[in-house]
Amino acid sequence: MFVVMIASECAPVAKVGGLADVVFGLSRELEIRGHVVEIILPKYDCMSYDHIWGFQVSYQDLWVPWYNGAIHCTVWFGFVHGRKCFFIDAHSADNFFNRGTYYGFPDENRRMAFFTKAALEFMLKAGKRPDIIHTHDWQTALAPVLLFEIYKFQGMENQRVCHTIHNFRHQGVAGADILWGTGLGRPEYYFSKDRLGDDFNPSAINFTKGAVVYSNFITTVSPQHAWEVRHTDQGYGLGHILHMHQQKFGGVLNGIDYEMWNPETDAHIHHHYSVDSLDGKYRNKEALRDRLLLRKDYKPLIAYVGRLDTQKGLHLIRHALFYSLWNDAQFVLLGSGPELGINDYFWQLKHYLNETPDCHLEIGFDEKLAHMIYAGADMIVVPSMFEPCGLTQMIALRYGTVPIVRAVGGLVDTVFDWDYSSKPLSEHNGYVFYQADYQGLESAMRRAIGLWNLYPEEFRRLIVNGMHYDYSWNHPGQNYLNIYEHIRHK
Ligand code: ADP
Repeated sequence: MFVVMIASECAPVAKVGGLADVVFGLSRELEIRGHVVEIILPKYDCMSYDHIWGFQVSYQDLWVPWYNGAIHCTVWFGFVHGRKCFFIDAHSADNFFNRGTYYGFPDENRRMAFFTKAALEFMLKAGKRPDIIHTHDWQTALAPVLLFEIYKFQGMENQRVCHTIHNFRHQGVAGADILWGTGLGRPEYYFSKDRLGDDFNPSAINFTKGAVVYSNFITTVSPQHAWEVRHTDQGYGLGHILHMHQQKFGGVLNGIDYEMWNPETDAHIHHHYSVDSLDGKYRNKEALRDRLLLRKDYKPLIAYVGRLDTQKGLHLIRHALFYSLWNDAQFVLLGSGPELGINDYFWQLKHYLNETPDCHLEIGFDEKLAHMIYAGADMIVVPSMFEPCGLTQMIALRYGTVPIVRAVGGLVDTVFDWDYSSKPLSEHNGYVFYQADYQGLESAMRRAIGLWNLYPEEFRRLIVNGMHYDYSWNHPGQNYLNIYEHIRHK
């Protein structure tokens, strides 16, 4: 199969968040399975150009229709760690992609609508006729609309679109000018509630709603989240339209990069280990304690790694820390957050606990320390308020660190409670709680700490169970191929 991904990010060349990892990881998996994948991205000035090999002009004069005229573009090509990437370079006074950062501009909708239009125009002119076009998030959500309303009639009638929504909070809500810019025109037609008309703002179109209506298939990043966005407020207003199109909507869990996250080869950790020889894991615990000046006692070490954001359940993270200390466990936090108030709060907490030999808070982003924590901790807490997929629990499982998670989103699909899961015992891999309050969290932490203290052999079984799971791109890759195959012949 020939698949073209159109996305605003791809790791590691242009990465802001998890979307970038998915675009790269899924593309690589599809290629390993023998399919041809090409990725179309904007040519940002702020990209990491040192991750591109063989960078060269691929298509010199691409004129992209825009409002009543056209914008002159050059399309570049290069390999990003083996992936074939095309970069759209727009030469216009708007300076769409040369602004020093990836996102955060007042004309965000216009620049991403232009990128999407340019990607389709490039495919049309360059003769690219993939079986599947896979688009991601609101930035490229207009692609299926443009394909089936314009490009289909210009020679692209056999292409099918799969659109993945990674984050429902951002949907691309814009005014009628985008319709004129992209050549769609006809506001009275597109503002219809059955098409792009936003359900809450009568004078706006909604890009993501357009993708839901026009795509051949829509996915989000876990089966549980697919349920949540239809039936709870997590759909941010898209629940109804997803309900109308439920027959072509589903959740596919993301994978993690098993080359980067591998305790047998990880260059960031002191001692390599595997499911057959866990000794290295215990030595990593000592190395982590050395690094963070923690007391070396016979105690479990519990960790949090992640952004410090209300999404992550800040009150529960804080409570997990104190509950650990009160229950003779150690706690390590590695967290970073964009919000000043939240950062200040955790800095204060850090000062308050400065003298405590059983606890360390590291505020900031530190890749190496993250690897050391995954390898050295006994348990990791993920008490999120919402979590579309979540990677931390999957990484933890790979490193034999037992996840203690709240039952939301992808956490439900990946962590199965040691005491209560209905799966066979060999598939129980962590602890799960439901309520977003202290009692809920404690109900799971108490059981986890208890097992560690009283039944170490059982705890070891729990570790081994987790390490046997395969959360690589292997299964998600197959799931996406099944979807592609399903829509391809429609
Ligand atoms: P989200 O995408 O909501 O931030 P995920 O669980 O999907 O959460 O992914 C988080 C990823 O970022 C994980 O790989 C985690 O290890 C990493 N990470 C988060 N915060 C930090 C930090 N402060 N230092 C190092 N790595 C971090």
